[in-house]
Amino acid sequence: MEDTPLQPGLYVAATPIGNLGDASARLLRVLRGADAVLCEDSRVTGKLLSAFGIEARLQPYHDHNGASVRPGILDRLEAGAALALVSDAGTPLISDPGYKLVREARARGIRIHAVPGPSAPLTALSVSGAPTDRFSFHGFLPAKTAARKSALSALADRQETLLFFETAPRLASALADIAESLGSRTVAVARELTKRYEEVVEGDAADLAARFAESPTKGEIVLIIHPPAPDAAPSEADIDALLREALAGHRVKDAASMVAKRTGLPKRDLYARALALKP
Ligand code: SAM
Repeated sequence: MEDTPLQPGLYVAATPIGNLGDASARLLRVLRGADAVLCEDSRVTGKLLSAFGIEARLQPYHDHNGASVRPGILDRLEAGAALALVSDAGTPLISDPGYKLVREARARGIRIHAVPGPSAPLTALSVSGAPTDRFSFHGFLPAKTAARKSALSALADRQETLLFFETAPRLASALADIAESLGSRTVAVARELTKRYEEVVEGDAADLAARFAESPTKGEIVLIIHPPAPDAAPSEADIDALLREALAGHRVKDAASMVAKRTGLPKRDLYARALALKP
């Protein structure tokens, strides 16, 4: 099996997210046998290959050259080449290049082979202890606070675990925006997964924001936001605060609808209370 040539097609191949021991036997066979390895950064993938003594031909494929090199890659695949697509780490296409290549290859009837393996969001979810029955992944949060709060507010009503990538320098401010936009939420900060300083720190968003503002951290991070607590019935003060916030920019009826959607409380009761609170 090891010596048989690879079948033609595009191999979408996941690589380790830190621990080289996570490179699967099949990944190594594909990297060894491919006619070329399409990679984001030749230096990064070059290090992975040399760690395993693999001499593969590397061809850069990234956001800046994708449009110009894609037609040639697709022609090669159509002519019967076996090409591997990798990213710097983890599963290609997940906040990484490759989507258009896979889509266009599929449209041309080229065989796409899955070579699954590590991916930071799923790895983080699997060790976080957050509910896994329903979850959604949203890539990186916007860097600026206004855009970030608006992205978070759009997700406030979702009864599911939310996954985001985050950078260490923005961690504390992102957590503060999570606390402000989503209220009290349990958040897990999954850091440096599979590496030496791997850790998962869990707490209330506001507490974690204070903790990381005081002691900034380093490394690669996935944020896992738990769904709103199902039995967290809001207090009267919470409801009044939500209504006041909504009334600041909306008519009474709309404010009541918004808070009803957010809390699950009857719209009629909220309308009556909003009328009483209206300045
Ligand atoms: N396609 C990759 C995957 O499937 O894992 C993700 C690519 S995305 C551009 C890179 C981000 O993933 C990092 O900025 C960080 O947020 C997260 N990440 C990657 N490796 C990680 C690790 N070992 N621990 C925690 N987060 C990680």
